[in-house]
Amino acid sequence: MITETTAKKLITGTNGEVTGVVAEKKDGTTLEVTAKSIIMATGGYAANKEMVKEAFGFEGINGGLGQNIGEGLEMAWAAGAKVPDNFGGQMLHQTLARATGKLKEQYTSFEASYPLMLSYLPNFMNVGPSGARFRDEAATLEAVAAANTSAFNGPYHLVIVSQSQIDALTTQGMNGVRAPGLPGMPPEFYADFQAQFKLDTPWKNAQQVFDSMVENGDGYKGGTIEELAKNAGMDADVLKNAFNKYQEAIRTGVDTEFGKSKAYLQSMGESGSYYAIIAEINNLGSVGGLLVNTDFQVLNDKRVPVPGLFAVGLESEGVLFNDTYVGNGVGIGYSFTSGRLGGERAAAKALAN
Ligand SMILES: Cc1cc2nc3c(=O)[nH]c(=O)nc-3n(C[C@H](O)[C@H](O)[C@H](O)COP(=O)(O)OP(=O)(O)OC[C@H]3O[C@@H](n4cnc5c(N)ncnc54)[C@H](O)[C@@H]3O)c2cc1C
Repeated sequence: MITETTAKKLITGTNGEVTGVVAEKKDGTTLEVTAKSIIMATGGYAANKEMVKEAFGFEGINGGLGQNIGEGLEMAWAAGAKVPDNFGGQMLHQTLARATGKLKEQYTSFEASYPLMLSYLPNFMNVGPSGARFRDEAATLEAVAAANTSAFNGPYHLVIVSQSQIDALTTQGMNGVRAPGLPGMPPEFYADFQAQFKLDTPWKNAQQVFDSMVENGDGYKGGTIEELAKNAGMDADVLKNAFNKYQEAIRTGVDTEFGKSKAYLQSMGESGSYYAIIAEINNLGSVGGLLVNTDFQVLNDKRVPVPGLFAVGLESEGVLFNDTYVGNGVGIGYSFTSGRLGGERAAAKALAN
């Protein structure tokens, strides 16, 4: 085990077999390690914004390790590994509110998390950057579905909140907007305001918090829907049309567009102001980049093993799914399983040679 050492290049033999690694130590000196089997377990490229954008179309927010910048993939590709046909998938998980960071400098953690919490409630209207509604907002009840259904819009969507909803939150908390349950956020998001994280806790200072969100440049406000569209850079006709249809759904209790349950079609009042929360997608990691067989041997362009090279974890996880992460422990499950099996196979191969 050599720590604080970064692998930089694979060493290959005359027949294309991988025979070692060139690495850089913390003090800047170079190290060469030779081995009969090399396993890439370098965790993908989610921290490499340019690479994610090129492969996937947009960056999102990197929620994983900062050191996972795709060096392992670059090394393996340079040694002859195939770029898989489904390359580009990301492990999208959860929604983050852009406003939270700055608001935490101005308000208590509970107050600063108001925009974040609303992005996890099904009874608010969600639109894409154009102003078009794009889903049954009940998808927000489950983190993976929330992130993956939003991704079709690019890196963010907007949660529309009316003045009457803010007033109801101020006096009655989430009960005031008939939240069906607490927002389904990961526990670490509300760990420091657990005591207030209840449906009946009044949202003190809600008006000020949402106005600060807008002043900080992390959300938008308009006196009317048209003004909100203008301020948020949306198409006014597209948002107005979506808003009118949503109001109709609230009135009739039938969402003809996305089939949202009547229970989540709650009144937005008769007039503005209106706010738009910028809700961004959290990316836990890139998925895939190396194609492997069932022995976790890395395959070349002919789908034949590159001798001596194995890949486990995120680096080869594209063999399991494409562009939509399924959640439920599948991420870590593949890393553990491929790590164990790939390690066994690599060791057996090294002993046999
Ligand atoms: C916040 C968060 C929450 C998650 N929650 C879940 C969950 O609930 N369920 C689930 O199934 N999955 C979850 N995941 C996903 C899962 O944890 C990852 O998919 C899995 O840990 C990836 O394992 P890995 O070994 O491929 O990569 P990593 O664990 O990222 O390990 C890669 C290692 O390679 C090192 N490295 C990178 N480049 C080099 C280099 N050039 N030289 C040497 N070393 C290098 C890095 O330092 C790192 O130690 C979560 C991920 C995150 C970030």
